[in-house]
Amino acid sequence: MASLRNTARVLVLVGLVAGCRKAALPREFDGPGSFRYIETQVAFGPRVPGTAAHQREAAWLDTLLRQRADTVIAQRWTHGTAKGDSLALTNYVARFKPGAAKRLLFLAHWDSRPTADGPASTDSTKPVPGANDGASGVAVLLGVADALKRTPPAIGVDLLFVDGEDYGDFTKAPNDVLIGSRYYAAHPAPGPQPLYAVLFDLVADKDLQIYQEGNSLVGAPEVVDLVWTTAKDLGYGGTFVGTPKHTLIDDHLELQKVGIRAIDVVDFDYAYWHTKDDTIDKVSPASLRIVGDVAVALVRREGE
Ligand SMILES: [Zn+2]
Repeated sequence: MASLRNTARVLVLVGLVAGCRKAALPREFDGPGSFRYIETQVAFGPRVPGTAAHQREAAWLDTLLRQRADTVIAQRWTHGTAKGDSLALTNYVARFKPGAAKRLLFLAHWDSRPTADGPASTDSTKPVPGANDGASGVAVLLGVADALKRTPPAIGVDLLFVDGEDYGDFTKAPNDVLIGSRYYAAHPAPGPQPLYAVLFDLVADKDLQIYQEGNSLVGAPEVVDLVWTTAKDLGYGGTFVGTPKHTLIDDHLELQKVGIRAIDVVDFDYAYWHTKDDTIDKVSPASLRIVGDVAVALVRREGE
């Protein structure tokens, strides 16, 4: 039953890619306006679970989303870590046309990492500021919310802000990472599953080049094709490079496990990844706009 449904989805998506190539796609995303969402988040301080900055961002997201979406779901729970700590975590789901059967899901993580322990880190006692790692994906989703508030979508759209993506050690304590996406996979928003899902992570690097990601190509190759085709149609074929490079453990995998055709849009060639230098000067409104234009165009394309 599941594989039959998946086959049907593949065919629908292939048809959409083939049928819509001639349609002009608008560039609707406000790059400079959305870049301010990165600045605001960085100004809160590192959004590490258990800190005041994390609470400030939660309140800010809650307010902004309720002003823009038709419905907002706040999922609150407590996560017990491998070390025995209790983390108060929250996912937000901002829903446009919550009753629509045909819908898309976009997601990003809103927490930032407690320790700058990346391969290029010079000081692992500090948390990660997360201008690119965390804040950029959130800014894409918020800019999409602005565009959909201005011109409501023809289909349903869910914007999922997951918490606790980056808290723990990816190899030694896998339960302490991807926490929010795992929680959402077990507690999805009511109604039909999305046609597909796109995760946005590390998407505002000044030197933006987005290669196709390995686990996305394994789990949902037709969605990768659709997203890269859409980028090309918008004139962004130089940024969205149509070849694979990295293979990553990221939030899309938790959604794939429950049958959602999820992919990762990520520029993993980022020298400041998991360092204290993941700061506002490393990201740009022009880069953010490219990814945001692609996201909004995906919504408009499905509504044609
Ligand atoms: Zn990270």
